[in-house]
Amino acid sequence: MIQKIGILGGTFDPVHKGHLQLALAALNECSLSKVLLIPAAGPPHKHSKSVTPYNHRLAMLKCATSSFKKLEVSTIEGNLPVPSYTIDTIRFLEAQNTQNVSYYFIIGIDAFADILSWKSYNQLLGKVTLLVANRRGFKKHEMIRNVAMNLGYVVDGAKWKASNAHLKDIYFLQSPLLEVSSTSIRQSIASGCCENIAGLDQAVFQYIKKHDLYAIKHNSIR
Ligand code: ATP
Repeated sequence: MIQKIGILGGTFDPVHKGHLQLALAALNECSLSKVLLIPAAGPPHKHSKSVTPYNHRLAMLKCATSSFKKLEVSTIEGNLPVPSYTIDTIRFLEAQNTQNVSYYFIIGIDAFADILSWKSYNQLLGKVTLLVANRRGFKKHEMIRNVAMNLGYVVDGAKWKASNAHLKDIYFLQSPLLEVSSTSIRQSIASGCCENIAGLDQAVFQYIKKHDLYAIKHNSIR
């Protein structure tokens, strides 16, 4: 039997409830066996100097997912060369895995809009089935139409059918997800919010406080 494994790559700086909802939505809607959450050691699309060190992002991810049996944190990008390109991670996973596995790459629509700039995106789209989630406030629909046109996909409701045999179909997840981003959380913390930050797990907030991340304002935190 084929094992269906979801992969959610990201910077997770910090992980938030939108990430968890996204992983769970993919798990449930597509009957996946599990989802691997893979923090990028060197995210190619983000300015490396401004990203929190890998060990902290990894620890926060472990905190946030510890009670979810089917969400597994993977350290593979910590051992691969940086920048962390998804195609290299998938090739590495394929080489490691001798079982019959199919990979589902979970991605927000904002990241998907840039897919044509990803390393070896054509090969990637032949190896993994993309599961794309909407993000409220996303406006670049023209870019999404360009992706479909460029790659020759035929849009069929929540599914994009590949017209090229080397590409896999693309699915759009239906579950509504929280409107939260790591950016908004970093901004809330830096501006002194100290209680109930929307979309942030309490254990992760405690970790941030303990390790003094995101220019936290001590005088405003109990
Ligand atoms: P930042 O605000 O720093 O850019 P982010 O919140 O987008 O961060 P990432 O770690 O960069 O978080 O995202 C990892 C993946 O999760 C990306 O594919 C992104 O589109 C997706 N994602 C993050 N938050 C949400 C959300 N609230 N709803 C749907 N997808 C999300």
